[in-house]
Amino acid sequence: MPIPARIEDDLPFLTSLRRDLHAHPELGFEEERTSAIVARLLEEAGITVHRGLGGTGVVGTLQVGNGTRRIGLRADMDALAMPEMADRPYKSTVPGKMHACGHDGHTTMLIGAARHLAATRGFSGTVHFIFQPAEEGRGGAKRMVEEGLFELFPCDAVYGLHNMPGLAVDEMAVVAGPQLASSDSWRVTFRGTGTHGAKPHLGRDPITAAGTFLSSLQTIVGRVVDPLQPAVVSACSLHAGDPKALNVIPDIVEIGGTARAYSPEVRDQLEHEIGRLAAGTAAMFGIAAEYGFERRIPPVVNDADATERALAAAAEVFGDKVVTRFPPSTAGDDFAFFGQQAPGCYVWLGNGPAVDGALHHNTAYDFNDDAIRPGVAFWTRLVERELAAG
Ligand SMILES: [Zn+2]
Ligand SMILES: [Zn+2]
Repeated sequence: MPIPARIEDDLPFLTSLRRDLHAHPELGFEEERTSAIVARLLEEAGITVHRGLGGTGVVGTLQVGNGTRRIGLRADMDALAMPEMADRPYKSTVPGKMHACGHDGHTTMLIGAARHLAATRGFSGTVHFIFQPAEEGRGGAKRMVEEGLFELFPCDAVYGLHNMPGLAVDEMAVVAGPQLASSDSWRVTFRGTGTHGAKPHLGRDPITAAGTFLSSLQTIVGRVVDPLQPAVVSACSLHAGDPKALNVIPDIVEIGGTARAYSPEVRDQLEHEIGRLAAGTAAMFGIAAEYGFERRIPPVVNDADATERALAAAAEVFGDKVVTRFPPSTAGDDFAFFGQQAPGCYVWLGNGPAVDGALHHNTAYDFNDDAIRPGVAFWTRLVERELAAG
């Protein structure tokens, strides 16, 4: 499909907006500057703006004609607490913060679509442009939902988009079913009896218990979970003792990590089994174990009907470059909370080859400005198809 001339003409503006956002990254719930720019641009386009939903969240609503269907499009606005190491003219101006996940591009593309749709109004119905704060682990989507996102702005379907290095910028992956895993945190504390390192028999050693626990941890995925069901359990933090006290067996060992799954059943299983292994190991060593499992975000699972609609729009823009077989990611995205409120579809837009091997959350990562054009075209075609004027 040829890209509408109005979108082509807007590309210089959108590219400079993307680079400006890149140079001024803000962390989750701190997107004051970004959300002010978003709100101003939406208002200038004649779109009704609601600010301050979920802290720094912004929702723009554009209603055209008398169509009754309502859809939501989501872009995330936050950056990451990490330094930008690559040199580029629009490099982060804020030490220790950078747009390493391309959310600067997501915000820009949804603004581009809003500007185009507000100018052309080629649909009948209501579209909510949802600019979400704090996607990166700080709970922005959940907070928007808790503060009434879907009561204030009811949606019959909701769509999300993420850039994906490794796919070309003229490619988009649209796949039904699981896209991103649940992302939960767990903690185990082994509590023994500290003693002299030379006299272990006078205490109860939690370090040896922790070693046994860790060496058994992968048996949950390998021996308990159905081999046809993906699951990840990783220990990512381990703390015990003091490197300056090498003759002291400590009282406690603290271990923490993450658990990932695509189905509610496996998610329940991981929660239960990690705790069971911790309790069993503690019993074996005659010590105590404390266990906590924090459910952070559910899996993103694309609804079949919403996926079909997204696929039809993507096919118009990307032609035979639409990818319908694409592996799910074991990362998470709190778009999952939106997908629990309305049938949802989350698509992957190509970001081109990984430059110097830099992938998401790498200190050299950058959103590819060549993806703005197809990204804006996809959002606008999706709205025009979803809310087709009689
Ligand atoms: Zn990210
Ligand atoms: Zn991201």
